[in-house]
Amino acid sequence: MVMKKIRAKKSIERIRPYVPGKGISEIAKRFGFKESEVIKLASNENPYGTSPEVIQKIRENAQNVHLYPEPSDVSTLLSEYVGVDEECIITTPGMDGLIDYTLRAYISEGDSVLITSPTFSYYEIASLASGGNAVHVFRRGFEVDVGDVMDNMDNLDRCKLIFICSPNNPTGNTTPFKVIREIAESFDGIVFVDEAYVEFSGRDMISSARALPKKALSLENVIVGRTMSKAFGLAGLRIGYGVLPPMIMEDVKKVATPFSVSSIAQVAAKTALENIEYFSRIVERMKNTRELLYKAPFKTYRSEANFVLMNVSPLTSEQVFSKLLERGVIVRDCSSFYGMGDHHIRVSVGREEETKKALDIFNELFR
Ligand SMILES: *Cc1c(COP(=O)(O)O)cnc(C)c1O
Repeated sequence: MVMKKIRAKKSIERIRPYVPGKGISEIAKRFGFKESEVIKLASNENPYGTSPEVIQKIRENAQNVHLYPEPSDVSTLLSEYVGVDEECIITTPGMDGLIDYTLRAYISEGDSVLITSPTFSYYEIASLASGGNAVHVFRRGFEVDVGDVMDNMDNLDRCKLIFICSPNNPTGNTTPFKVIREIAESFDGIVFVDEAYVEFSGRDMISSARALPKKALSLENVIVGRTMSKAFGLAGLRIGYGVLPPMIMEDVKKVATPFSVSSIAQVAAKTALENIEYFSRIVERMKNTRELLYKAPFKTYRSEANFVLMNVSPLTSEQVFSKLLERGVIVRDCSSFYGMGDHHIRVSVGREEETKKALDIFNELFR
């Protein structure tokens, strides 16, 4: 029998697979810890979990999982939370789902996607998977440079989409509204602003845009991506959402998978949004704990997210990462982020006592 040769799309051959943070059970097993002893500061999850009310509602709704999800009013609650019309909100299977839908709707073979790197690596994977070219425009001192972005925008053939992550993963800084607006206004394509960490930041697109004079149309080509995975502690349920202008909403809705958000995820998100004060308190606590991380024995960068980037030179990130693993602390080695080099780690804000414990270990090993 002749072996069949099944070829994937050309662009897929260029994909560098996503490298997730290491898991707790894997590390516990490898180094002989109890799972409860491992401190995971690698994936920017909410270390306090989600709220008790959310867990209760998930339990109560378990009996309905044999049914397809029914329409839910989670979009109504999201529109109130964000402060926009309900028609502008779409819920998606994680924000990653929104990234997929956007690319599916707008990117064809040969189109270019600009990625302001170093940044979240899924943009590149998803762009290549859609058949597009992923073009990296490097930040300067981690800041998005308007001139550099515009040069690429103008010189590239068929540049259709730009990703700007703010606060940026893994660097933690935000991009000023002025910069995003300037880019969006002179761009004949879509600017996707990823606000996965907005709750930990003092800046967000929607309120900045609202402060503009009434007739300013500067956001007609901007998608704002959000998620319930980080501040609301629902990473395991996969629910994100987008704030989209009407013209874009129409296209994106067409390519969405049917029933794309599970019934349990909808219930959880809805309950979380009915308990906003609970999460605001947790977020405040995490912002305070974030201050502790600046005392690490490395160069640290100010962050508006629930993680802090550290430069561990002259050590390599791999050396620091491995040493910490042996002590049961999982951080993120940033060498898998394109353009980040070999000397950065990203440390998530944990619970206060676990963050302190991790810092003690940092100091013991590296001071
Ligand atoms: C975590 C993260 C996401 C993914 O969010 P999900 O809703 O869990 O898919 C998107 N963008 C950035 C920058 C992230 O860090």
